[in-house]
Amino acid sequence: MDFSLTPEQKALQETVHEFAEKEMRPVSRELDEKGQFSWEIVGKAARLGLTCSGVPEEYGGPGLGSLDNVIIVEELGWGCVGIASAIALNNIAILPVLLAGTEEQKKRYLTRLTDPDRPRLCAFALTEPEAGSDAASLKTRASRQGDHYVINGNKCFITNGGVADFYTVFATVDPSKKHAGITAFMVDADTPGFSVGKIEHKMGMRASQTAELIFTDMRVPAENLLRGEGQGFYVAMETLDISRPGVGALGVGLARAAFEEALSYAKQRVQFGKPIIRQQAVAFMLADMATKIEYARLLCYKAAWMIDQGMNAIKESSMAKYVGTDVAMEVCTDAVQIHGGYGYMKDYLVEKFFRDAKILQIVEGTNQIQRLVLSTQLMAD
Ligand SMILES: Cc1cc2nc3c(=O)[nH]c(=O)nc-3n(C[C@H](O)[C@H](O)[C@H](O)COP(=O)(O)OP(=O)(O)OC[C@H]3O[C@@H](n4cnc5c(N)ncnc54)[C@H](O)[C@@H]3O)c2cc1C
Repeated sequence: MDFSLTPEQKALQETVHEFAEKEMRPVSRELDEKGQFSWEIVGKAARLGLTCSGVPEEYGGPGLGSLDNVIIVEELGWGCVGIASAIALNNIAILPVLLAGTEEQKKRYLTRLTDPDRPRLCAFALTEPEAGSDAASLKTRASRQGDHYVINGNKCFITNGGVADFYTVFATVDPSKKHAGITAFMVDADTPGFSVGKIEHKMGMRASQTAELIFTDMRVPAENLLRGEGQGFYVAMETLDISRPGVGALGVGLARAAFEEALSYAKQRVQFGKPIIRQQAVAFMLADMATKIEYARLLCYKAAWMIDQGMNAIKESSMAKYVGTDVAMEVCTDAVQIHGGYGYMKDYLVEKFFRDAKILQIVEGTNQIQRLVLSTQLMAD
């Protein structure tokens, strides 16, 4: 078994790390403080191809695989989870078009994301106020009228909501059919009847914009339907099965950043006449943190590698997501602990890391839902 990355993957890792260090880190605290999305930084990421890493070369993208994406996202997560989310969730929002789009839809939408002259983003709009984990109970309604669908309803907590150029919107054509009525539509941000509601004021991940979307008699051409009526739930689930190792990798990158801060602090903070790293209780915490980061990364790599091989990776994707993000929460908690009272102050990076870690256990299916997906698969084995 060969654990080494290819020369291309190492070069990719170095490039993204340099971007994270030179472009993201210097602005991350200010954007976090202001709760501000920045087109300037996302535009730079777009020009490097980071916002559309999975878009095939024929549509102007770099055509990278899942493992490449995990490598990219870990470095972005190290830089700033807020900025990283705006970039990484864009890559997730691309997946429905890649998985279910017709050739014409792929050309129309993917080339907009790879336009070198104007950076653009897209968004994945599934969650509703009364349908989060239970996505099949969504209420947004789509009714066919001639060659259009008229869509009414609203979505909440949508990453890149209000800044995206287009959205994959999940609506039901027949609520009595539950998941079998759910249908996916490509919706342009300038569609009449589309509007952006509340912009959320969040605990962490504050450099990415999270918004409510409102659809009022929104008329979407029937040609914008993805894969067919009643296929939307499957498109959403297939998307999440592929995207989850990336969220785990966001956690790995964040955990690595927090670990580095904690290690350096433990070496220089002196109490009882010696650096606190000389206290076995602190040293063992650091040993556990390093081990957790290593096994979380291995799970993300394995799940992504399986996806690249075309294998069924539903179980491994869920494992990668919940282990990667649980490890992020644990490591960031311990990093604050190692900093003592200083770790609770905004002057120290670990304060931000701790707030950013929490959301990763919630997005893309909570970590309880990951265990549900995994245990359901185990029962079927
Ligand atoms: C910052 C942010 C960004 C987001 N971005 C997007 C986005 O871009 N697109 C999008 O569509 N959505 C997005 N979401 C929504 C996110 O995916 C949901 O918040 C998440 O799926 C949970 O849904 P919920 O918040 O309604 O919680 P609920 O589903 O109400 O869950 C509440 C609690 O109950 C637990 N729970 C529920 N059902 C079960 C069960 N069967 N077994 C065990 N435990 C259960 C959950 O784990 C959780 O702890 C985002 C959310 C946030 C906060």
